[in-house]
Amino acid sequence: MEKGELTIERMSTWVPKANGPVIISGPCSAETEDQVMSTAQKLAATGKNHVLRAGIWKPRTRPGSFEGAGEPGLEWLINAGKETGLPVTTEVANAAHVEAALKAGVDILWIGARTSVNPFSVQEIADALKGTDIPVMVKNPINPDLELWIGALERLNKAGITKLAAIHRGFSSHEKSPFRNVPMWEVPIALKTRIPNIDVICDPSHIAGNRDLLPLISQKALDMDMNGLMIESHINPDAAWSDAKQQITPGTLAQLISELVVRKADIDDKEFKDLLAVLRDEIDQLDDNIMSQLSTRMQISRKIGEYKKDNNVTILQVSRWEDIISSRLKMAQAMGISDNFMKDFLKLIHKESIHVQEEVMNAKGEKSVK
Ligand code: PEP
Ligand code: MN
Repeated sequence: MEKGELTIERMSTWVPKANGPVIISGPCSAETEDQVMSTAQKLAATGKNHVLRAGIWKPRTRPGSFEGAGEPGLEWLINAGKETGLPVTTEVANAAHVEAALKAGVDILWIGARTSVNPFSVQEIADALKGTDIPVMVKNPINPDLELWIGALERLNKAGITKLAAIHRGFSSHEKSPFRNVPMWEVPIALKTRIPNIDVICDPSHIAGNRDLLPLISQKALDMDMNGLMIESHINPDAAWSDAKQQITPGTLAQLISELVVRKADIDDKEFKDLLAVLRDEIDQLDDNIMSQLSTRMQISRKIGEYKKDNNVTILQVSRWEDIISSRLKMAQAMGISDNFMKDFLKLIHKESIHVQEEVMNAKGEKSVK
């Protein structure tokens, strides 16, 4: 296996009933036999859920919180799957969990964000899975480290697991944000670019951390061409023993799913394709122009660097930078370009200009400092 090349059986082969986005729902945690069974029955009755989830071993931030029902919970989950005909999935974080889940007959496993971050744990799970062909879904590590996410998928693949999918559940951040875990959509998109045949399921529940944002994130995920959604549901969300704020009833889930617009990644219509090709040509042209303008801009920065060096002047003049920001932001506003995008763009350009000028300053032997 070449580095980065994975042998993957698509989700459509192991969740065949989902003929569209795969919906995985069920409680954050299996709490009681009755809670698991009644949630499963209500979900199955909606006809919109393809896989039943429930956490059996719960990774909690602080000790003393409910840490999952453990092995008895596995039996509740298996029974609920049998009763409803839904395949069942749970989180495994070590070899003992894998062994218990395989023994109980769990259909699909997932590796949580606090586990995929640790190569030792992922390797332990991969070793415990050798010789099986159970499907495994890998959540993104809590930090936005694409290589770590890919590495976890590679470890499983090397152990012979080919029924693989990824779950995007957002990333922890210290910055103030409306999300429990910031989505950073560019990371799962980069994963799809690096491993084009992987299905990516979005987990809006853990991204949002609350019910209100679920529809918005779910729609965005479908618009980003994600292959399904994992959404936590509970018969009595407010009374849930974990993640109460983000869980919804099976009825609310069905409503949410039915309001989503599933757009196609592509269509066969010739007229549509012709117009799309024309617009893409225009974009290609514009990108060429932007790049050549950027190249010219960097050449001028280099000249400025040489000029500053000859005159023994610092690279950064704060007032000039402040002027650039305020004038460009005003212009961007008038042109309908968002403030945040323009700020990020200017910061990047500025960083590179400084870098170019530093190279000039540090170059030896060319011109002497006066
Ligand atoms: C979960 O799915 O309940 C869970 C613990 O998720 P994560 O690993 O994404 O935090
Ligand atoms: Mn949860």
